[in-house]
Amino acid sequence: MSGRLAGKNCIVTGAAGGIGLETCILFAKEGASVVMADINGEALEKAAAVVLHFKADARIKNFVCDVSREESVQNLVASADEWGGVDVMFNNAGIMHGLDADAVETPEKIWDLTQNINVKGVWFGSKHAVLSFRKHGKKATSVINTASFVALMGAATPQLAYTASKGAVLAMTRELAMIHAREGFRFNSLCPGPLNTPLLQEWLGDDAEKRFRREVHFPSGRFGEAIEQAHAVVFLASDESSFVNGTDFVVDGGLSKAYVTAL
Ligand code: NAD
Repeated sequence: MSGRLAGKNCIVTGAAGGIGLETCILFAKEGASVVMADINGEALEKAAAVVLHFKADARIKNFVCDVSREESVQNLVASADEWGGVDVMFNNAGIMHGLDADAVETPEKIWDLTQNINVKGVWFGSKHAVLSFRKHGKKATSVINTASFVALMGAATPQLAYTASKGAVLAMTRELAMIHAREGFRFNSLCPGPLNTPLLQEWLGDDAEKRFRREVHFPSGRFGEAIEQAHAVVFLASDESSFVNGTDFVVDGGLSKAYVTAL
């Protein structure tokens, strides 16, 4: 098998759609073996068929997993043992709940649900990846944790639980990078800008005002595409990024650098 990820065993969470699915396609094209994990088993089956459409001889398997449950994540990581253990862990699953709002209006149960998936899920994925790297004697591995540009900027369009969860991903990933650097385990955060994926598009729906409040700030004048994130993930997963560690890897069309809107 040739390619930029040849010989690497990769696990992708949130693999049934959006960034996760586009990443699985590119990972397979680049020669990786891929465990595709998602809480939605039906969508996962369709996603696996899409990967095989692009790369008929891809070595992939599906794993239904709830990242907020440790046992589920432990079993997910163990599923790569038969291939020799995981080399690349992409902790990408996340939610942005419709009832997430400001400090006053956000229900506590939505706060807890968001932290359980977006933060605890990343911790469990990182923890079991580290244990597996050690068990299999890996020396050059990569963990990529999906955060968001909202962890870097203040927005007056509130989604407080989500924003707090992504800030936690950045801080956690940075510290993990320092703790495990001498073991050869790299940890980086991916910070996508607003994307053309179901997570955001279904949330915005046909609310023109809600859309305008965001779109007016885009320097590029458009939402990003999931595949533009996936290309960055391939780089962070591959040995090409061997000296990139602990970064907030921002792929946002320049949004987080904008002051006055480009016309
Ligand atoms: P998406 O909704 O298309 O994909 C998310 C996937 O995660 C879904 O397939 C869903 O079933 C899965 N999932 C949800 N809860 C899960 C759980 N408990 N266990 C396992 N899987 C679960 O969204 P996307 O836009 O591809 O988002 C991927 C990541 O990117 C998320 O972490 C999201 O917060 C982040 N992000 C998205 C945007 C955006 O604008 N779409 C911007 C910045 C960051």
